[in-house]
Amino acid sequence: MKGRIRTIVSRVSAVTALAIAATYAASFITRLFTGAPHTSVDLFECFVIPLMVGVPILTWLFDQMERLKEANRNLVFMNEKMREACRQLELAHEIVTHTAGHDRMTGLLNRERFTEYLEQALRDGTRAVLLLIDADHFKQINDRFGHLKGDDALVQIARAIRSSVRRQDAVGRIGGEEFAVLLEDVSLTQAAEMAERIRQSVQDIAWHYAEPGVHRLSVSIGGAMLGNGLDTAAAVFDQADRCLYAAKRAGRNRVHFKVPIREAEPDMLLKAG
Ligand code: GH3
Ligand code: MG
Ligand code: MG
Repeated sequence: MKGRIRTIVSRVSAVTALAIAATYAASFITRLFTGAPHTSVDLFECFVIPLMVGVPILTWLFDQMERLKEANRNLVFMNEKMREACRQLELAHEIVTHTAGHDRMTGLLNRERFTEYLEQALRDGTRAVLLLIDADHFKQINDRFGHLKGDDALVQIARAIRSSVRRQDAVGRIGGEEFAVLLEDVSLTQAAEMAERIRQSVQDIAWHYAEPGVHRLSVSIGGAMLGNGLDTAAAVFDQADRCLYAAKRAGRNRVHFKVPIREAEPDMLLKAG
């Protein structure tokens, strides 16, 4: 506040002094050319008029200027604060969105978010294959090693699945020990090869070394291609589930595919572990 008054006073004084000098110079030159005599009244007018008229107006003007500057500084500050708040909100939104769509334990998509990807692919008419992957005899793992070790096995299975597919493929944990992968722009044969890669990489997990020779992790996989009668997420899940349980019935640790139901072709048994 004091600084503001000092600024205003010094500016008003400087401009008033200039005005007095300019008025006096103008009066002097005018009288020089016209030959009018210089009187003490002229001198008085040259000082008093700028002082009486200029000082209040200049004070008001400079005061307004200072107020505007202050308001501008506050606006810039508030703007910066608002931007920071927006950045924080965006970050919080990202975290909430990520958390809402992901499984906390494995970091994969959860069932709801995975289903959204599947539904989008169905809407777009994308050529894609759904893989349903279920850990074999997982209850036994929990019973023998405890639930915490079981959790660790699920995390490792999740990693093996994620690293066996392409970056762009959606991978989800859609149930307790059940996972799903959506392979877009692949043929059934390519999808079957990728499913086999997943099966093999789970089998290769060194998890059983925790208690040598006791248990080897494995998964059974069922696959279904979108379209050709499988036009809803429920229908695709159902078809892949049938294949999955066919793989279970056939002995587990294997991949079963079935061509779309309208083409009554037999199941495609791809690989026994
Ligand atoms: P199958 O080969 O037929 O799939 O046999 P399974 O034992 O894997 O299948 P079942 O459905 O009988 O048992 C699934 C087991 O998975 C039982 C359940 O306790 C376990 N499970 C589910 N979610 C979790 C989890 O988050 N952590 C752990 N540790 N175990 C889980
Ligand atoms: Mg299971
Ligand atoms: Mg299961």
